[in-house]
Amino acid sequence: MRTLDSTTSLRIAVQKSGRLTDKTINLLEGIGLEFDDYKRSLLVKCQNFDVELLLIRDDDIPEYVNDGVCDLGFVGANVVAEDGVDVTILRGLNYGVCRLSIAVPKEGDIKSVTDLNNKRIATSYPNITRNYLKGKGVESEIITLSGSVEIAPRLEIADAITDLVSTGGTLKANGLVEIEEMFQSETQLVQTKKPLSKGKQQLVKKILQRIEGYQLAAKSRYIMMNAPQESVPEIKNIIPSLKSPTVMPLADNGMVAIHTVIPLATFWDVMEQLKDAGATGIVMLPIESMIT
Ligand code: ATP
Ligand code: ZN
Repeated sequence: MRTLDSTTSLRIAVQKSGRLTDKTINLLEGIGLEFDDYKRSLLVKCQNFDVELLLIRDDDIPEYVNDGVCDLGFVGANVVAEDGVDVTILRGLNYGVCRLSIAVPKEGDIKSVTDLNNKRIATSYPNITRNYLKGKGVESEIITLSGSVEIAPRLEIADAITDLVSTGGTLKANGLVEIEEMFQSETQLVQTKKPLSKGKQQLVKKILQRIEGYQLAAKSRYIMMNAPQESVPEIKNIIPSLKSPTVMPLADNGMVAIHTVIPLATFWDVMEQLKDAGATGIVMLPIESMIT
C-alpha cells in the first residue's frame, strides 16, 4: 500500500520574503538544489531533486512543520521557541543570528529586570518574555504587538520592550538601551515529528550531509605556498591541522609547492610564521563544498 507521503515531494518551508529568504535559498542552491524563480510562486519545484519549497511567513513555519504539512523548515530559533511546537531541530545554521533582549528608554528609571515589576512590556514574543520574567520572579503586564515594538515606549503604551537585536542600531535610533538578553537565536533546520517515507528520510539525510559539507567549507580555506624542501617539517609544525599536505616538487631545485586545507580562523595567525619559515607566494582560496 502506498503511504500518502510517498506520493509527494519532500516539502520544505522557507520564509517568503524577509531576512532569511535569500540566505536560505543561497544555502539550498549551494548544496546543489536548483529552483525556478522562487520569487513568483508560493510552491516552487526543485528541478533536480524530489523537493519542493513552500514560501510562507516565518511565523507560520513551526506550525506547518509541526502539522506535517511541511517535512522540513528553515526558521529562526526565536520563532520555534515562541510557538512552543514539538519539532526536531536538525541543525543550527549560523545565519539570522540575533538575540531577543529587553530594552528600556535610555533616560528612564528602569535599569534592571527587577525594576520591571508591575510595568508594561510591549513585545511580539509574549511567551518567551512571560516565561523569562517568571523565571526571574518578575510580574509585568505583557502587551502583544505584531510589529514596530520599538516605538511603544515613545507612544507611552509600554514602559519597556522585548525585541530582536542584531547590531542594536534600531534600539539606539529609538532612544532605547538593552538591559538584558533573554534568548540567543540563529536560523535552524527543523523536521516534523510525523513519520516520513523511506525516500524522504534518505533525502533529509542527503540534505543534512551536504549542509554539513557546505558549512565546513565556509569555515575552511585552501592554501597554497612555495617553500624550500627542508622547511617542510617546520611548516608542518606551524599549521596544526596539517596532517598530510600535498607536497609537490617545483622546477627550481630544492623547492616544493605545499597545498592544504586549514580552518579560516587560523590563517592570519600562521601566515607570518610561514613566511619566517621560508614560505613564499602564499595563496588562500575559498572552498565551495567539501566532504571529509
Ligand atoms: P514575515 O513577513 O515572514 O513574518 P518578519 O518581519 O517576521 O517576516 P524578518 O524581519 O524578516 O521577519 O526576520 C526573520 C527572522 O530573522 C527573525 O525571526 C530572526 O530569526 C532573524 N533575525 C536576525 N536578525 C534580526 C533582527 N535584527 N531583527 C529581526 N529579526 C532578525
Ligand atoms: Zn514574522
